[in-house]
Amino acid sequence: MRDLSTGPRVLLKRLRELMAEPLEPQERLDQIVQQIARNVVAEVCSVYVLRADGVLELYATEGLNPDAVHLAQLKMGQGLVGTIAASAQPLNLSDAQSHPAYRYLPETGEEIYHSFLGVPILRTGRTLGVLVVQNKAQRNYREDEVEALETTAMILAEMIATGELKKITRPGIELDLTRHVAIDGDSYNEGIGLGYVVLHEPRIVVTNLLNEDTDQEIRRLADSLGSLRISIDDMLSRRDVSMEGEHREVLETYRMFAHDQGWVRKLEEAIRNGLTAEAAVEKVQSDTRARMMRLTDPYLRERMHDFDDLANRLLRQLTGYSTSVAGKVANGDAIIFARAMGAAELLDYPRENLRGLVLEDGAVTSHVVIVARAMGIPVVGQAAGVVALAENGDPVIIDGDDGKVHLRPVPDLQVAYQEKVRLRAKRQEQFRALRSVDPVTKDGQRINLQMNAGLLVDLPQLVDSGADGIGLFRTELQFMIASTMPKTEEQEEFYRSVLNQAGKRPVTFRTLDIGGDKVVPYFRPHEEENPALGWRAIRLALDRPGLLRMQLRALLRAASGGELKVMLPMVTEVAEIRQARELLQREVQHLSKFSHPLPKKLQFGAMIEVPALLWQLDELMQEVDFVSVGSNDLFQFSMAVDRGNARVADRFDNLGRPFLRILRSIVEAGKRNKTPVTLCGEMAGKPLSAMALLGIGFRSISMGPAAIGPVKAMLLGLDVGMLAEIMTAAIDDEASRVPIRDLLKRFAEAHNIPI
Ligand code: PEP
Ligand code: MG
Repeated sequence: MRDLSTGPRVLLKRLRELMAEPLEPQERLDQIVQQIARNVVAEVCSVYVLRADGVLELYATEGLNPDAVHLAQLKMGQGLVGTIAASAQPLNLSDAQSHPAYRYLPETGEEIYHSFLGVPILRTGRTLGVLVVQNKAQRNYREDEVEALETTAMILAEMIATGELKKITRPGIELDLTRHVAIDGDSYNEGIGLGYVVLHEPRIVVTNLLNEDTDQEIRRLADSLGSLRISIDDMLSRRDVSMEGEHREVLETYRMFAHDQGWVRKLEEAIRNGLTAEAAVEKVQSDTRARMMRLTDPYLRERMHDFDDLANRLLRQLTGYSTSVAGKVANGDAIIFARAMGAAELLDYPRENLRGLVLEDGAVTSHVVIVARAMGIPVVGQAAGVVALAENGDPVIIDGDDGKVHLRPVPDLQVAYQEKVRLRAKRQEQFRALRSVDPVTKDGQRINLQMNAGLLVDLPQLVDSGADGIGLFRTELQFMIASTMPKTEEQEEFYRSVLNQAGKRPVTFRTLDIGGDKVVPYFRPHEEENPALGWRAIRLALDRPGLLRMQLRALLRAASGGELKVMLPMVTEVAEIRQARELLQREVQHLSKFSHPLPKKLQFGAMIEVPALLWQLDELMQEVDFVSVGSNDLFQFSMAVDRGNARVADRFDNLGRPFLRILRSIVEAGKRNKTPVTLCGEMAGKPLSAMALLGIGFRSISMGPAAIGPVKAMLLGLDVGMLAEIMTAAIDDEASRVPIRDLLKRFAEAHNIPI
């Protein structure tokens, strides 16, 4: 008997010719199994394809009873074929019938065959089917024969993935590749999006599978591996990387993989079996992925990502691939899928085509999520394994409200979500109708409703939402998404453009709030044990006055002839404000010395985010023109709960008595000192908590643009005087066990206030 390894190249060549011939899919498949059987001298060769219902169906056979085609079926995990599919591992048996998983299918007539070799048909680690050869004689297939059959299976994977088999799939039956999958993640931004998958790092589709010259392909592989290793070493020796723990660890792992002899050997073997270098990388990547996807150890799974990244880099090297963002979203209705991505990369996509963002990793506070929120698109994060399950162009629904992703949704689901989208749009329409209605409570109190922003993409929302102005402009976002420090002129131009677009509506710029969780790529402070309490915001600015002066100068110039409002983040002592004001004065003097026109009105404020300021309220308010409460940080520091740690962030209620008493004391100090007080943390954007803020005396709040409509709808129906009386009593009632949140809900319900 000729063994399997002598002819893989001849076989692959023949298969390539078959793929190019104008054949009907069934005929092509039949000829493929005939060729494989003939080439490897097996009496049987069969292809099983995995259906969406988890059944492996015989699609073609040479040697078994031809009537069994499309009838013989095995469930995932059932029989030898089902075991191969479930484990994504080959099975090589000299006596198949003695294997415990063996299951006799009478319709096939396979009982006379003893030896059995089956390999999974894999694509990006997913099992699409099983390819089997059988012989009557008892024999053990050699390792290189297994390899050769796996290589052949790649061609079948390609055929299944291109959808060619649809034509020979019985009506009502779906192949697994097109199966609906629902993935649970976390909600990072609400909203519903219907569209099509756009893989941020598109899988490189290797179309050139079969090599002409093995030695040349081995050389190509060696060259690419060489450049890959050099590029990793380069990254590792860069100073900024060597400082950083986690990033460095990932790169070290890359280096380990890139030098891994086992990996290189597998790649070379696949080339010797007839594949091109890139097809070899894809094959080994798919095998490794299939194996690792079944791991439960989170550390090892993480390493799988690293390995995947490395294989992708190598593929890009070999194929000279470069991505063009514009091409990726040409069809519109794009839902971007990424493991992780930078904020600037998201901004490269045309906003009008974006319907959502799905991330495998990420955190609610990550920059890309901040930007996605600013763009107003739904975001689901922590959607494990989602990238490997999706193909470019797959239909998808992203449910940002529930943190769910529906890949390839069934028609019923699609209809249900379309309805949901319509309802949402109707609600948005109602809110939009309120845009020109003044935010005045039922008892006549005018409330100042402002919005938070940080990027130019936010600005159109100022007019769309009908906000009174920008109560918090987070200037650090421009720094966070840039790869190098923005120059003074760039800052100036950016601020000028913000002011121009805002027109008559005031903008409150907050000076750089970097450090802590806000990482600026080109500015890496030292590793800190406790970054939230570390060298950040105004502390950093006062220690590096050049940075703050540069920013103040840019702001002063941008606002020349107009009005400028600036505020400082994370102030702890009033002395810090005095120091910062001196820097501002110096910049004012500098500009007037060179006869540069100054803003005609300049207001200087501070954020209240650190509890120590609560015992300096009067001094503080004498020192500044206005204050703004950063309730996110003030809550974090008052209650000692990390705002980015989901385990504790919601442990205490920000509508509980302690925090409301703190907030009320700030409002009272504002009245005493005649200093305007605003609140610009997330709680201002939730109608119920916004109602509580009005109840304790706030008359100015600033929130995300999407919240303006719902908050306005709430306050239009609110008798704030009546609520204030109830709240004062409730907050002061030391004996009461009734949570204020419940009280507020009851009040809203009793008075028909939409919350
Ligand atoms: C806050 O802390 O409430 C705030 C508005 O600032 P940031 O969320 O940017 O820290
Ligand atoms: Mg803050």
